[in-house]
Amino acid sequence: MSDPRIRTACIHAGYTPGNGEPRNIPIIQSTTFRYATGEQMGALFDLEANGYFYTRLQNPTNDHVAAKICALEGGTAAMLTASGQAASFYAVFNIVSCGEHVVCSASIYGGTYNLFAVTMKRMGIDFTFVDPDCTEEELNAAFRPETRAVFGETIANPALTVLDIEKFAKAAHAHGVPLIVDNTFATPVNCRPFAWGADIVTHSTTKYMDGHANAVGGAIVDSGAFDWTKYPDRFPGLCTPDESYHGITYTQRFGLAGAYITKATVQLMRDLGAIPSPQNCYYLNIGLETLPLRMAKHCENALAVAECLKHHPKVAWVSYPGLPGDRYYALAQKYMPHGTCGVVSFGVEGGRSAASRFMAALKLASIATHVADAKTCVLHPASTTHRQMTDAELAAAGVSPDLVRLSVGIEDVRDILDDVEQALAGV
Ligand SMILES: *Cc1c(COP(=O)(O)O)cnc(C)c1O
Repeated sequence: MSDPRIRTACIHAGYTPGNGEPRNIPIIQSTTFRYATGEQMGALFDLEANGYFYTRLQNPTNDHVAAKICALEGGTAAMLTASGQAASFYAVFNIVSCGEHVVCSASIYGGTYNLFAVTMKRMGIDFTFVDPDCTEEELNAAFRPETRAVFGETIANPALTVLDIEKFAKAAHAHGVPLIVDNTFATPVNCRPFAWGADIVTHSTTKYMDGHANAVGGAIVDSGAFDWTKYPDRFPGLCTPDESYHGITYTQRFGLAGAYITKATVQLMRDLGAIPSPQNCYYLNIGLETLPLRMAKHCENALAVAECLKHHPKVAWVSYPGLPGDRYYALAQKYMPHGTCGVVSFGVEGGRSAASRFMAALKLASIATHVADAKTCVLHPASTTHRQMTDAELAAAGVSPDLVRLSVGIEDVRDILDDVEQALAGV
């Protein structure tokens, strides 16, 4: 089949059963794989043959689902990780080492911010956080000789800023480094960052891709477009021999299409081991099959909720990139003309305490440290996910103390609106 449309790819990509084989992707719940001779297995260890030997590195169930996500993003290679956090870490650590530097949008998920600003900083990797709305000059000024990557989120969780992917890609490429984009909130159904110049895409598949709050997971996809070999001094891990694999050079052996993901699999997965279970990948695949249907409904419901909040006297402000008049509406129209996501942020008149009373009065929407699944849920980031941040850091990340993040589900929108209205009435 030649390049199916995305709705078809969500159902079929990544797995084509042979005659008499299971129609669904089978769950290969096995840590190990059998071989007839030691030589056969040795060839796998030397990366001379393709095949499975131990699920910490690769598993057939996981690989089918990775191949589907790869097709959805239009990439050349992909891998799944045990969480979105692991995906963000591997995606950066695969090409950035101690003493090196990353330029990062300040408007990112709180967990990613902590990973970068605290944990990876302890590993000697420095991050400069830039305002995503900065000018090209300001962006270019953030680069250093030791910069190795640029990172941002298509739609930032929870600030809902929209990344100007072309602007960030242009700056990254002018400095000879790749742009990594976390595409969790938009999903490839609504945005394909590679089409705008991103080089690597990451996902927390825990969110819309899984879609039912079943399984934590992550994904990394490579576009295959970034030419590491133009900068061998900057990316020695990809362009010079790896002694832990008998001196193979990833770009030579696997080409630009496969070098980055192969290196991340055989080095980072081997050594750090954040592999998802085949069972979880199976759940993820079920979610992917209905992703386009669910995204359309999430966006339709979220827009209705945003419109209602915008005109409500007890609401101080609303942020939803799909809402005409929103600060990011124009960028959202450019990068995501068919819809953005189901998450709406707003401030309740009366600030932090009014926000708490609103949350407590909700009946349908549950208070949950989660977003982006079928069930409407709500969170107050300043007192939960972002509580480790100072007020100044919160402001830089676009999170005000009164911000309520409402993840609009796919229930009947009239019931969601009724719930929001009755909770606001009680504030
Ligand atoms: C949730 C989330 C992550 C982290 O993913 P986990 O699967 O929870 O580890 C990363 N990026 C974004 C945008 C997220 O929403």
